[in-house]
Amino acid sequence: MMLAYMDHAAAAAEPDTIEVAMVADAAECAAARDFGGLVSARPAAVVRPASVDDVASAIQAAALTAHLTVAARGNGHSVAGQAMAEGGLVLDMRAVSRRMPMQLVLLSSGAAFADVPGGALWEEVLHWAVSNHGLAPASWTDYLRLTVGGTLSNGGVSGQSFRYGPQVSNVVELEVVTGDGKCRVCSPSSHPDLFFAVLGGLGQFGVITRARIPLSPAPQTVKWTRVVYASFADYAADAEWLVTRPSESAFDYVEGFAFVHSDDPVNGWPSVPIPGGAHFEPSLLPAGSGPVLYCLEVALYKQHQQAEDVDERMEQMMRPLKYVRGLEFAADVGYVEFLSRVNRVEEEARRTGSWAAPHPWLNIFISARDIADFDRTVLNGMLADGIDGPMLVYPMLKSKWDPNTSVALPEGDIFYLVALLRFCRPYPGGPAVNELVEQNSAIIDACRCNGYDFKIYFPHYRTQSDWAAHFGSKWSRFVDRKARYDPLAILAPGQKIFSRTP
Ligand code: FAD
Repeated sequence: MMLAYMDHAAAAAEPDTIEVAMVADAAECAAARDFGGLVSARPAAVVRPASVDDVASAIQAAALTAHLTVAARGNGHSVAGQAMAEGGLVLDMRAVSRRMPMQLVLLSSGAAFADVPGGALWEEVLHWAVSNHGLAPASWTDYLRLTVGGTLSNGGVSGQSFRYGPQVSNVVELEVVTGDGKCRVCSPSSHPDLFFAVLGGLGQFGVITRARIPLSPAPQTVKWTRVVYASFADYAADAEWLVTRPSESAFDYVEGFAFVHSDDPVNGWPSVPIPGGAHFEPSLLPAGSGPVLYCLEVALYKQHQQAEDVDERMEQMMRPLKYVRGLEFAADVGYVEFLSRVNRVEEEARRTGSWAAPHPWLNIFISARDIADFDRTVLNGMLADGIDGPMLVYPMLKSKWDPNTSVALPEGDIFYLVALLRFCRPYPGGPAVNELVEQNSAIIDACRCNGYDFKIYFPHYRTQSDWAAHFGSKWSRFVDRKARYDPLAILAPGQKIFSRTP
């Protein structure tokens, strides 16, 4: 196998070469951008591997040079250039996934798994598993047009994480090409150090070419409910109570978000009702409600045979909660429709132009210990007017995360995801992006100054000492693993953690 630099037509005609596009035209510059739209780094070439061997060949070819780096690019939904390689090779993982079919693996025990390419979108995994086999993974992200390799390199969280664990806790085997260009299959029992290094490893230790994901019978429909709180203390107490219930009396999904006490269509009351749900009646809110309100979102999955039970269970489980009576929104939707709910947001954002505009997003994990203070200082202070997009705030459990993975988490047993997902209109119609970036920095500074127990999710830092502080006690293990699996620091240069060794 040789690595040839050529145009697409020539590559297609030559079966024994990897398709490599030199970056000369605008179309290829997709790899120089990402969803964040804040940074740009032009690669030397985009490689479209057709197989795992091609991925290995590209990494081996880079290793023979003194300077080339290699970035696996999933769907480019990072926000700070994490999947870019300035002057290096970008591996288009979507290309290799198109050539590798998904496979069902059935064990004699009856356990079912999906073998899926690292470049597959979770949306593709969902449709394949449900339509072909009536099965589905347990743990998702809110938005499914993200790749398996991309979310497994970070964490992969949503409202199922408190119960089923994040996506990095829902994989039993990986096929990985490490920085020496070797392909290895690893699992908790075979090469466990590599397996856990790669999970949440920010692409530093290897390129995930295949993942084995456990499957269970797919639910038929979902009972989806949103309720509103005026008091953060009540909201947090209920949310934490719900995520610590034993499985048999727990919801399948618990999320929530903060929103503005106003009629603003994006930031205010209209952001709460779900399709098929009722009108938001603000007069039901208690007098003296503050500028920020909270919406708890829960779901119960239904199989056909237990539909009535689920309705009754939902009612019972909602009864003790302290939400504002009358501000309840419920809908019965198909399972695939529920998991695809963010596609509607994408369509709308594409229509208004905010999908293509920059996204200065900030995601933080904060200990339950500090979340009330964060609410006072940040949500009700700096962000009281909203952010032109969702402000997710919901708890999950540290016990559902394996400490052997590379993910850095706060110390607390319960921590919240705070996701500030700004969808701004392009400047000058919308706010200046640098002001929003500064506001994110001010939020992080506030977390530091107030001594909060927190970690940034999807971190991006400029200096190695910042990275060392981010990983804390896990930093020396992270460095050791890098030396073991990618000693020349070829992989994922866009994370800016290590520099390429000649
Ligand atoms: P990319 O951005 O392409 O890559 C991310 C990093 O992973 C890069 O360092 C890259 O080099 C590396 N990488 C990519 N593929 C591989 C591979 N096969 N092997 C090794 N390394 C690889 N996250 C959540 O947890 N929950 C959510 O609900 C959620 N919702 C989102 C909604 C939207 C609209 C967007 C834009 C993002 C959301 N995310 C969410 C964040 C998402 O998980 C990250 O952007 C993640 O990086 C996945 O995106 P991607 O597949 O495009 O990866």
